[in-house]
Amino acid sequence: MKTAIFPGSFDPFTLGHESIVRKALPLFDRIIIAIGANTKKNSTFELEKRTQWIKATFNDNSAIEVLPFKGLTVDFCQAQNAQFILRGLRNPNDYQYESAIAQMNQALNEEITSVFLICDPAFAAISSSIVREIYLNGGDVAQFLPKAMKLDA
Ligand code: ADP
Repeated sequence: MKTAIFPGSFDPFTLGHESIVRKALPLFDRIIIAIGANTKKNSTFELEKRTQWIKATFNDNSAIEVLPFKGLTVDFCQAQNAQFILRGLRNPNDYQYESAIAQMNQALNEEITSVFLICDPAFAAISSSIVREIYLNGGDVAQFLPKAMKLDA
């Protein structure tokens, strides 16, 4: 069984994240969306809410699971029998950041392979941090989020 972990803060999950998962579906038997407690970030949205929103987005698909995780991504992969880490790339900055992480993860566990998908140009400008900024200042962020997500529900 080919299993990929899609790790992230998903604070909140956006159309960009949804698109990466949907593009990856034909490549893997199982995709685990792993919501991390990133040490450097205090989250704006509660873990429970972030989990609910992602589950609602993919409730039609049994190949997708949503789980919280702490600690090293490679350790979580091993615990879940996942051979792949899925990440999305929007631009050269993402590439630079992601390639360093992938190489460090490779050094930590050479059996786990990072797989990158280039994002759809329509979503290249969408970032969770800007969505948070707009939301916290009272702007309407619905256009950046999957349809099933209602932030104020
Ligand atoms: P992290 O806090 O680990 O960076 P994020 O939730 O910000 O987690 O992002 C998770 C993954 O989704 C990363 O690989 C990131 O590059 C990717 N990603 C973020 N926004 C988009 C987008 N608009 N389109 C495609 N991929 C994206």
